[in-house]
Amino acid sequence: MDRRKFLEKSILGGAALGISAASPLAPGFAAAQKKTGVKDLIDQKHIFEAKEAQFYKKLEHGKIRCHICPRKCEVDNMERGFCGNRENRDGTYYVLAYGNPCAAHIDPIEKKPFFHFLPGTQAFSIATAGCNLVCKFCQNWQISQFRPEQTENIFLPPDKAAGIAKERRITSIAYTYAEPVVFYEYMYDTSIEARRNGVKSVMVSAGFINPDPMRKLVKKLDAVKIDLKAFTEKYYQEVCSAELKPVLQTLEVLKDEKIWFEIVYLVVPTLNDSREEVRNMSRWIMKTLGPDVPLHFSRFYPQYMLKNLPPTPVSTLETLRKTAMDEGIDYVYIGNVPGNKAESTYCPHCGKRLIYRIGYQVIENKIKNGACPYCRTKIPGVWI
Ligand code: SF4
Repeated sequence: MDRRKFLEKSILGGAALGISAASPLAPGFAAAQKKTGVKDLIDQKHIFEAKEAQFYKKLEHGKIRCHICPRKCEVDNMERGFCGNRENRDGTYYVLAYGNPCAAHIDPIEKKPFFHFLPGTQAFSIATAGCNLVCKFCQNWQISQFRPEQTENIFLPPDKAAGIAKERRITSIAYTYAEPVVFYEYMYDTSIEARRNGVKSVMVSAGFINPDPMRKLVKKLDAVKIDLKAFTEKYYQEVCSAELKPVLQTLEVLKDEKIWFEIVYLVVPTLNDSREEVRNMSRWIMKTLGPDVPLHFSRFYPQYMLKNLPPTPVSTLETLRKTAMDEGIDYVYIGNVPGNKAESTYCPHCGKRLIYRIGYQVIENKIKNGACPYCRTKIPGVWI
């Protein structure tokens, strides 16, 4: 058995086990320490810090209004916003858990997923508690639907996070797992420290954020992945307690700011899996963002409040992939189906396979100088 065959066999076996576990993230940090091996570098404390928030306005009678995300929470003294990670203390608004993530793992960048951003590299992935959405299918609800004092946190200020990534030669820091919008200030400051240390920063988000904070943040980031949950307001309201329009606006901001970004669409059986919805979304993407934005159709597994639904049939994912490609999107992937051929990257001009992936592993990358080595077609993305 040659090396490639061996890799294929072992990755497929391991990846299948990983998928059946469905929710790999534990709320405590002990599991993360085991996985990352960063225990020796982190000064662990069970405290959480507060830092004055950005983007809020003081109102009358000691109230404040938060302008980070479209909820625009109006918050009374000693109360918190919807996300549970921001608190009004005597008219000053604080973000809690600044420098105190509850999760830290070293993941392949493909797990975020980014397929056109430095493939085969690693991301130091951090998250705090809290979220500004309530998605019924959330796989990380044990942190997204909790408050910072309810999770086991570690002390990891921005300079330390960047220092660990640099020392371990980890290419990027990823703000991920729950929703980094709610720890905006921590992400912003860590991105500055990361850049100072030659480390990249990537945001993995639902994109439910206001344009001004997004534009400010994007200048410190290197790539963004947006979960476009569906293409109807009904789904956003009923399944995620959010809105579609601001997310589309975020995608337009990313395009305008010229940062690299990719889109993930989790296909939930019966709720957002119609060809018509995906055709409408694909037409919007083509018209507004163009054909170069990678689109990942991800397989749903029953969890959290949607345990009553079955996993997405692979045939549905393949049909929707074809629908999007027929509309002109060049790079359309299938995720959470290890071994599916749509995990790999193909040249849209000559059709040759350029990056061979199985699960989160890159088996082979033939892209040279950002182009197909067979026909010289430029492949959009950020390449080593
Ligand atoms: S970030 Fe949190 S506090 Fe601010 S508007 Fe959004 S949900 Fe409300």
